[in-house]
Amino acid sequence: MQITEKQLAQVNDRINALISAGSFYGKKLAEAGITHVDSVEDFENLPFSEKNDLRDAYPLGLMTAPEEEIVRIHSSSGTTGLPVIIPYTAKDVDDWGEMFKRCYETAGITNQDRIHITPGYGLWTAGIGFQNGAEKLGAMVIPMGPGNTEKQLQMMMDMKSTVLCSTSSYALLLAEEIEKRGIKNKIHLKKGVIGSERWGKAMRDRIQSILGIELYDIYGLTEIYGPGIGINCSETEYMHIWDDYIYLEIIDPQTGKVLPDGEWGEIVITTLVKEGAPLIRYRTHDLSRIIPGKCTCGRSYPLIDIIKGRTDDMMKIKGVNVFPAQIEEVIASFPNEASSEYQIRISHFDGRDTMRLYVEAVDGSVDFAQLGNRMAHAVKSKIGFTPIVKIVENGLLPRSEKKSKRVIDERYE
Ligand code: ZN
Repeated sequence: MQITEKQLAQVNDRINALISAGSFYGKKLAEAGITHVDSVEDFENLPFSEKNDLRDAYPLGLMTAPEEEIVRIHSSSGTTGLPVIIPYTAKDVDDWGEMFKRCYETAGITNQDRIHITPGYGLWTAGIGFQNGAEKLGAMVIPMGPGNTEKQLQMMMDMKSTVLCSTSSYALLLAEEIEKRGIKNKIHLKKGVIGSERWGKAMRDRIQSILGIELYDIYGLTEIYGPGIGINCSETEYMHIWDDYIYLEIIDPQTGKVLPDGEWGEIVITTLVKEGAPLIRYRTHDLSRIIPGKCTCGRSYPLIDIIKGRTDDMMKIKGVNVFPAQIEEVIASFPNEASSEYQIRISHFDGRDTMRLYVEAVDGSVDFAQLGNRMAHAVKSKIGFTPIVKIVENGLLPRSEKKSKRVIDERYE
C-alpha cells in the first residue's frame, strides 16, 4: 500500500492548516522547516507524532481550527500523567459518524436493527461514537452505557436488542450470565460489534457459541476520531480501513522504517481530512500488518490483520520481530497436551540470540521430549527460527494474581 497523489494533496492541506493555525504540531513542522511533501519519500521522512507529545500540548495545544468551529472535545484516559485532549469540529464529528455508519453497514447492520450500546459515555470516545454512527444509520439506539448487568439483560429482552456493542470481556460476561439464567430464548441478538481490547480466538469462540451471534472487530483510538476507523466484513477476520479518511502505515517500531505489506509492525496513522486536531504519522503502538490483495467481499478498502498486541510486548530475536500472541497461538494449537502457561527466556551468547520456551504440560501422561520437538517445529514455521522448547510439569511456572511475567530478556541484564 502506498500513499496516493490524492492522499498526498490531503496531507499537504493538513500541513498548511497546522502551520497557519500555529498549533502544537504546526510549530513543530515549521521549526523542522517542513512546508509540504512532494513524494512518497518526502512523506516517509515526515517526523512521527507520539502520545507523549500530545500530552505536552495539554490542554488545547492541538486545536488547529478556529475556536468558534470547535464543537466538542474528547479525552483519552490518562492512566499516567496528563490526559490527551482532542478538539473536534462539526465536520470531524460528522465524518466520524459517517465512518461509524460504514462500519455498521459493513457488518450487515441496518436501520431495522436495535443497537444496544454498553461502552461508556463521557469524555472518552466509546459510547458516543457507537451512538453517532447508529443514528446516522437510522437504527434504534439503546444507550445503556456500562455496568448494571441486571438492567442490561432486562432491556435486552424487553427492547429485543439485535446488536450488542461492547468490549470483549463485557460481551463474555453478559453471554455467561445469559447462559447461567437460561434466558437465551428471550434474547434476540444477531450480531456483536466488539472493540477496544485485544482478544484471542478462544474468547471469540466462547462468546459466539453461547450467544450464537456473528462477531465483528471494530478498530479505532481516541487520538484518531475514536472507534470506527475500520471493521471486518463477513468474509474475513481482517479489518477494512477507511482510507478516504486516514492513511495507515506499518513501521518497524525499532528503526521507524516503513515495512512492506504483509510484515508485522506498528500501526502509524495520518488523518487526511481532520480539522480540529489533525495528526501526521501518529504512532499508535498497536501491532498489525497490511494484508495484500483485495477482499472477496469486493470492497477496495485496504485490510489489516487483527491487532496482535502492543509494541511494548514485542521482542526482536535473531533480527525477527516476535510477540507473545504468536507464541500463544502455537501453544493453543496443542490443547490436549499443553496448558496455557508458558515462559520465554531470551539470551545472547557466542554472538547469537537464543530463545528458550518453557511450556507446561497438561499432566504427566504427555511425552515431554516429543511434545517439545513438535512445538519447536510449529514455532519455526510460524516465526521463522527454531527455539529451544522445554516442556515442564504442570504448576511449575510461577503464577501471579496480576499479569504474569512471561518474557524474560537476559540479553540486556
Ligand atoms: Zn471484505
